[in-house]
Amino acid sequence: MTRAQTEPIAFAASPSAPGPLAPWDSEVTNPWRQALESSGAGVWDWDLVTGKQSHSPRWNAMLGYAEHEVGHDVQAFFAHLHPDDTARVHAARVAYLAGHTSHYAVDVRMQRKDGVWIWVMAHGMVVSRDAQGVPLRMIGTHTDITERKQVEERLQALNLQLEAKAQLLQAMQTLSRIGGWEFDLVARKVIWTDELHRILETSPHNFQPVPGDTRRFLTPESQARLRTATDEVRPGDPPLDLEIEALTAKGRTVWVHIVMNTVWDQGQQVRRLAMVHDITERRNAEKVIWEQAHFDPLTGLPNRRMLRDRLEQDIRQSRRGRGELAVLFIDLDHFKEVNDTLGHDFGDLLLVEAARRIQTCVRETDTVARMGGDEFTVLLTELKSNSQLERVLQKILDALAAVFQLHDEQVFVSGSVGVTLYPNDATEIEDLYKNADQALYAAKGAGRNRFSFYTPALQEAALTRVRMANELRTAVAEQQFRLLYQPIVELATGRVHKAEALIRWQHPVHGLVSPATFIPVAETSGLIVEIGAWVFAQALEQVRQWRATLEPDFQISINQSPVQFHHVDRASRSWDSQLDQLGLPGESIVAEITEGLLQDTSARVTTRLKALRDAGIQMSLDDFGTGYASLSHLHKFDIDVIKIDHSFVRQMAPASTDLALCKAIIVMAHELGKVVVAEGVETQAQCDLLLAAGCDYAQGFLFARPMAPIEFEAFLRHRPQN
Ligand code: C2E
Ligand code: MG
Ligand code: MG
Repeated sequence: MTRAQTEPIAFAASPSAPGPLAPWDSEVTNPWRQALESSGAGVWDWDLVTGKQSHSPRWNAMLGYAEHEVGHDVQAFFAHLHPDDTARVHAARVAYLAGHTSHYAVDVRMQRKDGVWIWVMAHGMVVSRDAQGVPLRMIGTHTDITERKQVEERLQALNLQLEAKAQLLQAMQTLSRIGGWEFDLVARKVIWTDELHRILETSPHNFQPVPGDTRRFLTPESQARLRTATDEVRPGDPPLDLEIEALTAKGRTVWVHIVMNTVWDQGQQVRRLAMVHDITERRNAEKVIWEQAHFDPLTGLPNRRMLRDRLEQDIRQSRRGRGELAVLFIDLDHFKEVNDTLGHDFGDLLLVEAARRIQTCVRETDTVARMGGDEFTVLLTELKSNSQLERVLQKILDALAAVFQLHDEQVFVSGSVGVTLYPNDATEIEDLYKNADQALYAAKGAGRNRFSFYTPALQEAALTRVRMANELRTAVAEQQFRLLYQPIVELATGRVHKAEALIRWQHPVHGLVSPATFIPVAETSGLIVEIGAWVFAQALEQVRQWRATLEPDFQISINQSPVQFHHVDRASRSWDSQLDQLGLPGESIVAEITEGLLQDTSARVTTRLKALRDAGIQMSLDDFGTGYASLSHLHKFDIDVIKIDHSFVRQMAPASTDLALCKAIIVMAHELGKVVVAEGVETQAQCDLLLAAGCDYAQGFLFARPMAPIEFEAFLRHRPQN
């Protein structure tokens, strides 16, 4: 290789360019630099030995110089190089010369004549070496890549921004617990975001949702709501917006707010996109707030505000014919003393227990509320009778009068109750409250531990009943009752082997009191249980005697009050064992029950009925036709005897409706294998009609009134056929 070959070549703009370098366009000395220059790049040619460097016209133009303004020295390059890039240029060259890279390549910043920095891509190669391989000359290009760099930088900035945004979005979704799902209805594909996995306590690593499979994350009710909502969506509708309950994979219930967009294509739903926000905490907080606003924190009872809502609701129900409504104001007597002597903690305990006791006296559909202090309010709905109402009132008084065991203290209080009725006394809530308050005041004034009605007439009647209940208590203790017996005559033969036991109260002042007067009071006060036990024992002894002296198959019917079926038979030993003790078979007794009892399907009633049947006791349905008993009832409850109510018998005349009804009842009863007794038979005409209609037995003044046992025996002795 000659020296001349190693001479750096000047990039001369013209053939007359001065200096040692060969002219730029010399085909002989630089056959390929022309080719490089034609690529659009600026070309440099560097003599590594002398440090000379020549540049092509395009190189000069790139930096905005005329040819004569640029020195022919490598310093021309370094002078324009960005100081921060010098190190990289050296590093690239060293790497190349050491053989680590195939050619020299580096992107650098260079300053143009006008001071503007541009990005330049430098490429170069060694084109000549000495015999030892030492590089002597490099040639290469400098290409202006500013625009490309700017685009790259912008892209990178944009990427960074996008990445930051995605991260931000993810973070925000996590923070605000917003998940999302997409359901492609065409491809049948479901996608859940990570946050939705988190909300539903699953993980994208071990659970991939598929259509249909996602339903198990909803309660049945939520499934139905979502289905209806998605079915009803029409193109152009705003996004669906609903709050529903969801189930997590761990079985927890969470509340989610769903906003769902539906994508349509040619009238078909093709995609659903939903945002799912976990709002469990909000819902829980709302619930707490709602409860605080509507319930008393101490007793857990509805408060004044909730009571008003319930009362409005109950009034609406009552207007729709659901029976009367009673508003009770209850005030604890002597509560203040307990609070003052034992302290507020005991006072609180007492209130909680009083609240619990009041609740046990009413049905679940009734409302017990705490108005504050020691005042409670009760709403009793669907009232059918005064005796039903008074029964509840008495129960509440009894419950509150029983001893309160508070830790090791025994406390006695009682309650005063004011009662007003909707719609009888008032129809407006404020008026009802005012009435109940007045009635409560009256109850307190009358000596506490009692109830008082707002209406004077009701109050009077209630007072009479309260007085009577007290007297009845004495009557039970002093055995002021008597049992009379009315014969039940077999119509075909005139034979008497049955009688109905009917109770009388021999009142020390008022004389004989009718059961129609005192039985309802005995029922309200619960005394009927003891009275019933007494009646049973009496009747049993009587039937034992008469079976021995009159008829071996004699039978006595005993009236049973529905209330007796609800009370535990405290006063009496079971009928079964009493029958056994006297050596009497079950069929010596018939239990007379009323139609109302058959409507009552409670377990206690059916169990008691079954127990009677198991003891062999017959069942008779009293006052048939006045209630609502159906044929199916007769069958289901295994009734043996039907007693046609005397209201039918009384009006019976040939070709009358009542006769037609009696005949129908008789035919029907016989079809079902039941025996028929007609009640209240007063005339021979009635008796003849009944006999003709096929009636089995009759009972009434025509034959005899209810009589004491001695009279009954005399009556039988004097009967011709007997
Ligand atoms: P009930 O079981 O329907 O009894 C028939 C009632 O009709 C009796 O009234 C009887 O005296 C009356 N009576 C009988 N024949 C005639 C007649 O020809 N004409 C008229 N107008 N009445 C007649 P009583 O004895 O006053 O009993 C009334 C109701 O009291 C009974 O109706 C029954 O439901 C109830 N009762 C009576 N004793 C008891 C009892 O020991 N326990 C229970 N729980 N209730 C009883
Ligand atoms: Mg009866
Ligand atoms: Mg009857």
